[in-house]
Amino acid sequence: MYRHPLIDRDKVTPKEALDILIEGNKRFKNNLQREHDMLSVRDVIKEKQHPFASVLGCSDSRTTVELIFDQNLGDIFSVRLAGNIASIKAIGSLEFSCKYLGSKLVVVMGHSNCGAIKAACDHYKGGNIGEIIELIDPAVHLEKTISGQRDSSNNAFVEKVCFHNVEVQMERILKRSPLLIEMIEKKEIGLVGALYNLVTGEVEFNQSHIHM
Ligand SMILES: [Zn+2]
Repeated sequence: MYRHPLIDRDKVTPKEALDILIEGNKRFKNNLQREHDMLSVRDVIKEKQHPFASVLGCSDSRTTVELIFDQNLGDIFSVRLAGNIASIKAIGSLEFSCKYLGSKLVVVMGHSNCGAIKAACDHYKGGNIGEIIELIDPAVHLEKTISGQRDSSNNAFVEKVCFHNVEVQMERILKRSPLLIEMIEKKEIGLVGALYNLVTGEVEFNQSHIHM
């Protein structure tokens, strides 16, 4: 039976936190989720939380991070916004999770077939959605390799923009968070980029997007 490892979390390194997520995603991908005793987990974490990782992910209903990484309550500090955008408030939330709660790893996770990315590819601006699109725009402009239509009708184009968007949001974090940069430099936390594939269930961590 799964026991919540709350007490050992101060000793977890950023690399170990990444390995826990990779292992958890392997279980999810292969439909081998752990059995979770929710009663005992709730009891262990009722006084305090000490998540070992933080994920900036998309709000997409198909990308629930606790399921994808086969983790439990109290394991992942989850910041989710359409298009996994690193808005100032999202960055503040990540800072809070690392500085005050002791999270050891920040994952910026995009996903395949992302609706917010498609909206950005189509330059959609309705309601307050334009605020989100504005932060994804640099990823749309960054994509130069795919031929054909530069809008959501071109799947290959959309997937490449999803990939670039992870890089763009990581860059925003690095530009706007001296607090997280200092923690990365002191090796207290790591920052990695990842893409979740809706079809295979696999999270691919990008080796060129790792700061730890
Ligand atoms: Zn999405």
